[in-house]
Amino acid sequence: MDCITSPDLLRQQCRAWRKQGLTIALVPTMGFLHAGHMSLLDHARLRADKLVVSVFVNPTQFGPAEDLDRYPRDLEHDLALAEAHGAALVFAPDPAAMYHPDHGTWIEVPELGQRLCGASRPIHFRGVCTVVAKLLNLVRPDVAVFGEKDWQQLAILRRMVRDLNMDVELVGRPIFREADGLAMSSRNVYLTPEERAKAPAIHEGLELVRREVRGGVIDAEALTLIFREHLADKLPGARIDYASFVHPESLAPVTRVAAPTLMAVAVFVGNVRLIDNMLLEV
Ligand code: AMP
Repeated sequence: MDCITSPDLLRQQCRAWRKQGLTIALVPTMGFLHAGHMSLLDHARLRADKLVVSVFVNPTQFGPAEDLDRYPRDLEHDLALAEAHGAALVFAPDPAAMYHPDHGTWIEVPELGQRLCGASRPIHFRGVCTVVAKLLNLVRPDVAVFGEKDWQQLAILRRMVRDLNMDVELVGRPIFREADGLAMSSRNVYLTPEERAKAPAIHEGLELVRREVRGGVIDAEALTLIFREHLADKLPGARIDYASFVHPESLAPVTRVAAPTLMAVAVFVGNVRLIDNMLLEV
């Protein structure tokens, strides 16, 4: 397995593969890989001849007060995991190689990008769309695989690919969880042992809401209250950034769970912002 840091070399290698008639799958990540990422790699590996994994903590998707500098990194470990899960190549560029000093072109999907996480992270999805478009342009993969943990991100990227006629299939994979239900995330390492022990309450709250919906409670306000009360009880001190019921594709808020609805939440546990979601079927 090769590790490439130069965008030009990445493009050359992928072009050579395509000339040989080989198909390519891309899994974009910010590294500090865990079993959730591996579930994407394992699926992607089955979808194409060559698997490319990018490891890039993309500075343009972090706001000024966010955790860019302290985002966890461990490239050596990432390389070992990627190789063990069948990657042909890891692309791990420096920010300077990805962004010219006068970089000035951005992709935005404002309608979807301002909702949910976008309300408290106004430039986040502009950075995500732009870096994913750059990666798609460099690799030109047949398929790119993303996690449903970042449901909003996937919805926005699907819209971008559709709107800009990009020639790639986007695949979403289910949320991979710890044994106690906490959604795996590179940011979980920031949690103190006490916070970590209580953090599964977020997923429990989503499960509780799912049971209530099955039991006939469909009013979004009532369901939100049930979620809030559960967290106040099981994860005291946590601050809910949002707990929202939205249409799974448009991300527009809904007041009743009368059709498949996404419940999406973002919760600050101490200083750590955790996201999770659940698709509620009716
Ligand atoms: P990140 O490194 O956090 O930017 O994530 C890279 C990709 O892995 C994104 O498509 C995420 O949605 C996905 N991902 C992260 N955590 C999980 C998880 N627990 N289950 C499934 N996919 C995940």
